[in-house]
Amino acid sequence: MRIQRKKAKPKSKKLFIIIPFLILLFSAGLFGIYFLNQSHSRQTTAPSDEKYYFADSKYSGIRSKFVTRDNKREKVSIEYPITENEKINRLISESIDKIDRDFQNTVLLATVFDKPMTETIGYQVTHNTSEALSIVVNIKQDMNGAHPASMTQFWTFDKKSGEVVGLADFTEQSDEAAEAIMSAAKDNISQTIKQRQQPEIDLNEIINKEALSNFIITNNGNSLAWPLGQASLLPSSYGELTITVPISSVSKYLQNPTARKLANIPKPPEPKPAPAPAPAAPTPAPTTGNKVIALTFDDGPGPYTAHLLDILDQYGAKATFFLIGSKVSGQASVVRSIQARGHQLGNHSWSHPELPKLSVDQIAGEIDRTNEAIRQATGVKPSILRPPYGAVNGVVLEQLRLRNMSSILWSVDTRDWADRNSQIVCSRAVAGARPGAVILMHDIHQTSVNAVPCILSSLKQQGYSFVTIQRLN
Ligand SMILES: [Zn+2]
Repeated sequence: MRIQRKKAKPKSKKLFIIIPFLILLFSAGLFGIYFLNQSHSRQTTAPSDEKYYFADSKYSGIRSKFVTRDNKREKVSIEYPITENEKINRLISESIDKIDRDFQNTVLLATVFDKPMTETIGYQVTHNTSEALSIVVNIKQDMNGAHPASMTQFWTFDKKSGEVVGLADFTEQSDEAAEAIMSAAKDNISQTIKQRQQPEIDLNEIINKEALSNFIITNNGNSLAWPLGQASLLPSSYGELTITVPISSVSKYLQNPTARKLANIPKPPEPKPAPAPAPAAPTPAPTTGNKVIALTFDDGPGPYTAHLLDILDQYGAKATFFLIGSKVSGQASVVRSIQARGHQLGNHSWSHPELPKLSVDQIAGEIDRTNEAIRQATGVKPSILRPPYGAVNGVVLEQLRLRNMSSILWSVDTRDWADRNSQIVCSRAVAGARPGAVILMHDIHQTSVNAVPCILSSLKQQGYSFVTIQRLN
C-alpha cells in the first residue's frame, strides 16, 4: 500500500502540469480553427462586405444566422434557421445558398445600377413539436425593373431523423389517400381563385402528387398547407397563394403511424364493441376445436375484390363476403364470381347505416333491398347479415329472425381500415387466430387484400384451413 502511494505521487504531479498545458493547447487550437474559418469563408464564398451574426429566434430550439451584404450593387439580408438537427440545417442552407448564388450571378452580370438589387430571405416555423418541424423559407428578390420575384421553399421534417416528410410518407403510398388530398387541394385553390375573382383554370394539369409532395403542417397540427410563391405552380398573374387542407376533412386517409406522430389526426369513430348475440341469431361458436377459420370481408364489392378471389383460390381458401347492397348491381359479375368460386355471400345492409337508429320499416328496407340485389345477381338469397359497426338491437334481430337470417359478428378485428398497412393487418389476424375464429377485414382497401397471402400462408403453416361462416360449425 505504502509503496504504491509513493509511486503514485510523482505521476499526479506530472498530470498537474500536463492538464493545464493540454487545455491551453486545445483552446489555442480552437482559436486558430475559428480564425481560419473566418478568413476562409470570407475569401472564398463571400464579398468583403458580407457580415454575419447569430441570434435567438422566437421559435423554441431554433436560432437564426443572419447574413447581410450592403453595397452599391446589392442589398442582401438572409436569415437561416439553425435547428438542433444538423441534417435539417444542411438541407435548408444548401437550398438557400443555391438561390442566393443565382442572385449573386445576376448582380455580377448586371451593367447598369440605378439602385442596388435587393434580396431578402427569411423563414417562418409553422409547426414545431418534439417530433415534427415545418418550415417555410420566403425569398424576395428585386432586380431593378425586372419583375420582383417572390418564391418559397418549404418542408416538413421528422425532427429525430432529419428526413423530409413527403406526402407519400403521410399517406403511406395509398393512391386513394393521395387522390383525396389532391382533390381537397384543388377545391381549396378553386375557392381562393373565385374569391379573388381570378379566371378559372384547369388544375388537373397543375396539381399532382409531385407538386404537392412537400407540404407544411399549420394551424396547431390541424391543417396541411402549401404556401406557393408567385409563378411556382399557378401562372404568375395569380400571385402568391397558400393551399390549405384541414386535416379533419381527410383524416380518414391519414390513419397511419407517421401522420399520427407528426400532426393531429382525429381518429374515426370506433366500431361499437360487439354486443352479445341474441339467442335467435347465434354467432357461430368455436365448438369443434377444429383448426378452421372464417375470413370475412365487409363493405365490398370493390376494385380489389377480383384480385382477392384469385389469391383465395391460390391457397384453396374459402371466405365470406358481406356486401353493401347499393354496390352490388354495378359489379354483378364479380359478385357472381364470389358465389361461383365457392365463397359465401352475406348482407351488410344497403347503405351502411347504424341499423338501431332506423325505424322498423327502414331496417326492413336495408335488409330486403340488399337480399334482392344479391339474389338478382347470383340467384342466391343470403342467410346471414353483418350489421354495420356491429350495431344491433332487439328490433334488428327480430327482423332477421322473421327472415330466417342470422347476425354474424367477429372475434378478431384486424382494424385494417385504421392501419392501412399490410404487415400490421397480417400480424393482427395471425395473433388473433384460434380454432373457430371469425376474422374481420375490408376488401375495399388494397392494403387489406395485400395482407391476405401473408395471413393465409402463416396460418396454413400452423395447420389452419379457411372456411365460410356456414361451414364453421
Ligand atoms: Zn362495414
